Amino acid sequence: MGQLMGFLNIEKQNQKERKPSERIHDWNEYKIPLAEKDVKNQAARCMDCGTPYCQIGVQLNRGTAGCPIHNLIPEWNDLVYRGLWKEAYDRLAKTNNFPEFTSKACPAPCEGSCTAGFISDPVSIKSIERAIIDRAFEEGWVVPKPPKKRTGKKIAVIGSGPAGLACADQLNKIGHEVTVFERSDRPGGLLMYGIPSMKIEKDVVDRRIRLLEEEGIIFKTKVDVGNTIGVEELKQTFDAIVLCTGAGKPRDVHLEGRELAGILPAMQYLTASNRHLLYGEPLKGDDQAKGKHVIVIGGGDTGEDCVATAIRQGCKSVVQFGKHGRLPDQRSENNPWPEHPNVFSVDYAYEEAVEVLGKDPREYYVETKQFVGDENGHVRELITGSFKNHNETERKTWKADLVLIAIGFQGAEDRVFEDFNVVRSSSRPVVKADPFRYQTNQPGIFAAGDVRRGASLIVWAIEEGRKAAAAVDLYLDEQ
Ligand SMILES: Cc1cc2nc3c(=O)[nH]c(=O)nc-3n(C[C@H](O)[C@H](O)[C@H](O)COP(=O)(O)OP(=O)(O)OC[C@H]3O[C@@H](n4cnc5c(N)ncnc54)[C@H](O)[C@@H]3O)c2cc1C
Ligand code: SF4
Repeated sequence: MGQLMGFLNIEKQNQKERKPSERIHDWNEYKIPLAEKDVKNQAARCMDCGTPYCQIGVQLNRGTAGCPIHNLIPEWNDLVYRGLWKEAYDRLAKTNNFPEFTSKACPAPCEGSCTAGFISDPVSIKSIERAIIDRAFEEGWVVPKPPKKRTGKKIAVIGSGPAGLACADQLNKIGHEVTVFERSDRPGGLLMYGIPSMKIEKDVVDRRIRLLEEEGIIFKTKVDVGNTIGVEELKQTFDAIVLCTGAGKPRDVHLEGRELAGILPAMQYLTASNRHLLYGEPLKGDDQAKGKHVIVIGGGDTGEDCVATAIRQGCKSVVQFGKHGRLPDQRSENNPWPEHPNVFSVDYAYEEAVEVLGKDPREYYVETKQFVGDENGHVRELITGSFKNHNETERKTWKADLVLIAIGFQGAEDRVFEDFNVVRSSSRPVVKADPFRYQTNQPGIFAAGDVRRGASLIVWAIEEGRKAAAAVDLYLDEQ
């Protein structure tokens, strides 16, 4: 274990952050890793509680409790405390294919369930994970390890987000020949074109793709399966197919004025921003926020990423509408440990808005009622009411030159069901496949990640990719 009584004597410390006034002028990562001595101190806080809830990885009360990939957290905490970094990396690599993504962008449900957090602050698990993987890359421990033998079985993975990458990695390690098909021009899924570089810099994604290529995985980009190449053709060539195509069908608002120019889905806006930064592709009029009054509809993380992006692009103002109220400062009675704590926090984009615009951009219980346009058919204003109080006096008008719709995703794209002839789940528009065999109604076609569970998290996508790979391997054994 860490240090006896460490959790009582040492205060929690997280990864530091660059000053908002400085970081809004660039697109680099906003976090700063902890120094080695601080990481050791934080690892010393792990109390070896005996029943590490940090590892359980279950859905509790509609949230995630514990680490979905069951990282061996108390073990690597102890190894870090003792300075055994290589051993800590080896433990981490057993369960997590891509710690360099999770340690930067995971909401850390592990920490919400940490036993120390029951009475005081939880262990800084995510910061320790970050220190281990950073050290592993610095020391040259993360090297390509192609399998010694090939099985002769061929598998097609469709989609190169974290689910597809984890699935491909696991299958390749076993010795199967894996080809990943990606319709975009660059692998990575939402890691590449959705999540802004302030959270995950794109060279970190490219570095992992290169490693996977060197281990023998074939990436075929700009291949839209079902379009560029037929599903029947794939079935002839491959022994199994794994759908990891994400949950890219956005939710929309169906209100008067929705057809006006200047109202975009959040993903269109974020993708354009990422492409501009990667390739210098010019931002078209409505794809950028410079000099504009921006309204983000949707109080979640995608909305937050839109706020941070709009600030960096030089918006005149930004407001984010949430459907729900402000979260409490402490856990409420119906949100006890070890559930993920639904408590108020001021995350990176909000700190930046306070710095630049002098105000937290979040507005609560806001119900958008109508978009109003100018004489050129471009959005000019929004009219809102209140979800809390449907009284007419709550009606408010907001200036808007750019409106970003970030109210989440419905599920899998409609095409997936037709192209692959797979059935949808009875409750949601996602591909039906049970969470044990990951098999769809089509023999030899599997599904994992957001396309199966609905829009979720990187860490769940990794878990699903790993489990689906094990299921595919079993299926091939049984053939
Ligand atoms: C803006 C934004 C910010 C987020 N931030 C975070 C965060 O901070 N932390 C976190 O944990 N999660 C975050 N998420 C969620 C996380 O990114 C997703 O849960 C995760 O990427 C899902 O992985 P996936 O592999 O299932 O799908 P995706 O990452 O969506 O990848 C699917 C891939 O399949 C490809 N594809 C689809 N159809 C085809 C086809 N027919 N042929 C070939 N290729 C195809 C797509 O082009 C895409 O590249 C965020 C999501 C968004 C939208
Ligand atoms: S992957 Fe996420 S939940 Fe798991 S240990 Fe890392 S930060 Fe915690």
